[in-house]
Amino acid sequence: MGDRAERSETIDEEAPSEATEVKTNEDAKDKPGKSVRRKLSGPLGLIFNIRMLRRVVQILFFLGINAYLFTAWFGMEQVTAFWTGFRDLLPTLPIIAPLEAPFAVLAGSFDTMQRVLTSGAFPFFTLGAMIIILTVVGRAGCGWVCPIGTIQDFITLPKRTKLRPSPQTEKELRRIKAYVFVVVMFFAVWVGISTLTGTADVLRASLGIFADAAFDPLNPAYILFVVAPEQTWPQSLETLWYVLSWDFVVWLQFAFVAIVFIISYWIPRWFCRWLCPAGWFYSVFSRDALIGIGRNPARCTPDTCNVCEEACPMNIRIRKFPYQHMYSPDCILCLECMSHCPNGAIELRFS
Ligand code: SF4
Ligand code: SF4
Ligand code: SF4
Repeated sequence: MGDRAERSETIDEEAPSEATEVKTNEDAKDKPGKSVRRKLSGPLGLIFNIRMLRRVVQILFFLGINAYLFTAWFGMEQVTAFWTGFRDLLPTLPIIAPLEAPFAVLAGSFDTMQRVLTSGAFPFFTLGAMIIILTVVGRAGCGWVCPIGTIQDFITLPKRTKLRPSPQTEKELRRIKAYVFVVVMFFAVWVGISTLTGTADVLRASLGIFADAAFDPLNPAYILFVVAPEQTWPQSLETLWYVLSWDFVVWLQFAFVAIVFIISYWIPRWFCRWLCPAGWFYSVFSRDALIGIGRNPARCTPDTCNVCEEACPMNIRIRKFPYQHMYSPDCILCLECMSHCPNGAIELRFS
């Protein structure tokens, strides 16, 4: 473990790659999943590839996170029961999802942590469960489960020109999420201490919407699953004016969510890469996860190809890492690189 950390620290992931002039293998790019399909031959291989599997899992969790919807809207109590059973096994997951949502079944570790801290307690259980998950499967929750990651991924499905900032700019922008994390935690601990000393009322009044969980006003999951259902929505053209009754702050929050998703069309997962404090916190514990990816040196041709880097939604400079294991804290284990690699060089590694 120590040796791995030492080796990975010598890598400046954002530094210009030695192979930046390498042309993208357009042929392979146009045939995602080629290497995986090679392994799963026949109809099963066509239908059941990793990309497809991830989309299915993402949709299932997107619905499962708010599984009380199934009972409330469709009377499907068994479906809700399945997800509440899942929740009993894993009460929080390393994603962003607020438990205050009216239909919520699953909660994000970061969301829960903020609330426990502001109540004046320490989130031992939430942190413990989160660290175990992250050290085993890394940030797979971000790649396969988080509803905000899912929406951004589905927005980027149509063919388009991706925008890529320069490595130096990307490096600077990635720092923002760490600063956001520090500010959010500062507020959470401050309110928590005030709660313990009985002075929280005044502080809460002055902090307003930032008091209970400072990230919530800018948390797309909170805005979509808590703020949106709380509003009075028009039922017909005659009631369209209801939207005028929404607070100005609510309009700002909706505008922010719209901006997050619109920008992600051209810059995949930009919110995850640059802004999400939860993602930054999860990355601290996922860097040396037991499950990760590596490149087979006998198959990888890094001097003539950069398909994996082009496919990576987190804009990771994969070829900069050692062949054996890629220790990037930004890797969300989405396996897009594996699906796109024309040589089948990317493999899951367990160590
Ligand atoms: S970085 Fe944040 S928003 Fe993105 S997938 Fe992870 S938890 Fe969700
Ligand atoms: S892992 Fe695959 S896509 Fe990436 S450089 Fe090597 S051969 Fe190319
Ligand atoms: S390196 Fe591969 S698995 Fe990790 S985020 Fe990028 S595409 Fe996904």
